[in-house]
Amino acid sequence: MSLSAKDWLHRIRALDLPQRVKIMNVCGGHERAITMAGLRSALPDTIELIPGPGCPVCICPEEDIYAAIQLALHEDVSLVAFGDMLRVPVNVPKREARSLDEAKARGADVRPIASPTEAVRIARDHPDRAVVFFAAGFETTTAPVAAMLAEGVPDNLFLLLSGRLTWPAVAMLLDSGEANFDALIAPGHVATVMGPEEWQFVVEQHQLPAAIAGFTPVSLLAAMYSVLRQVQEGQRFLDNCYPEVVRPGGNLTARQQMHKVLDVTDANWRGIGVIRSSGYALKAELAAHDARQHFPLYADASRKRAGEMPPGCDCAGVVLGRIYPDQCRLYGRACTPRHPIGPCMVSDEGACRIWWASGVRESREAAVVDA
Ligand code: SF4
Repeated sequence: MSLSAKDWLHRIRALDLPQRVKIMNVCGGHERAITMAGLRSALPDTIELIPGPGCPVCICPEEDIYAAIQLALHEDVSLVAFGDMLRVPVNVPKREARSLDEAKARGADVRPIASPTEAVRIARDHPDRAVVFFAAGFETTTAPVAAMLAEGVPDNLFLLLSGRLTWPAVAMLLDSGEANFDALIAPGHVATVMGPEEWQFVVEQHQLPAAIAGFTPVSLLAAMYSVLRQVQEGQRFLDNCYPEVVRPGGNLTARQQMHKVLDVTDANWRGIGVIRSSGYALKAELAAHDARQHFPLYADASRKRAGEMPPGCDCAGVVLGRIYPDQCRLYGRACTPRHPIGPCMVSDEGACRIWWASGVRESREAAVVDA
């Protein structure tokens, strides 16, 4: 018998929880489903749902976006990137291009794409022109990029890779001793590719309840019920609440392709800093397709600092689950989707953008300031 959202809510409300429980999600898709379905207001007050580091555009380091902008402006290339990346601002003086969109407005050949196959097609259609694919994203985005590379790409296609692994950010948060949550909802699509076992550390090393969820309110509520019941009964295990697609070991073919063409490396996260073993790099055999090796280095080391958000922007606090989006004092005032200050207001997976789209229009901090 499959339960409805109403059934799951009824079960959650019937739990006798010993304490206030904070549940973190680490997926923009989860945050969107939770917010759009109004799950926060449907749950008892003692349950908090915290958006965490689940937006790849939000954590893409400023030095990579800056390098992409400079490459597009100063080299004779077509720069292609997933649409969200084009609007993400970097912190530069107003006279300079702040985003790939602004670089495009200044004459750079910048093109949005929706999949890696489009990058290959553009390169094949223009064999005499260098095409740079700025590939930023988590495992679910990096897997098709790896498949593209494993199958072979045209000589004129180069990658500016900015891929990240999701679980190391959660591990970093938990290892820091400053994690602001009591249970975790793990991303179903990442587990589909990489296997649910990646999230076992949450239970085994940190003794926190965890559950893998899909992207419907029903699946999310099932996962919430699982971790809340674990809290109530003092149990700890990783529950797969998305068994329709998440299988032990994940997608073996995708993992083999990633292993074939990519190395795992330490990587910088915007606003957070370097996290061990949290990024992907092209293997040495693919150096001929590595934009960082083929073109002059436009990376700017000064942009690697942690907390590299624009002045006043608290995206780092949002990404780490330390504040809710509307606790940033710029939310809805200086920062809106039309005029984003930080990356969390740009991407469809950014918590600020999602909250704005759901109708939250005012900053709690602004209300305090205005009072
Ligand atoms: S409201 Fe804007 S400035 Fe504030 S955290 Fe979100 S994206 Fe950053």
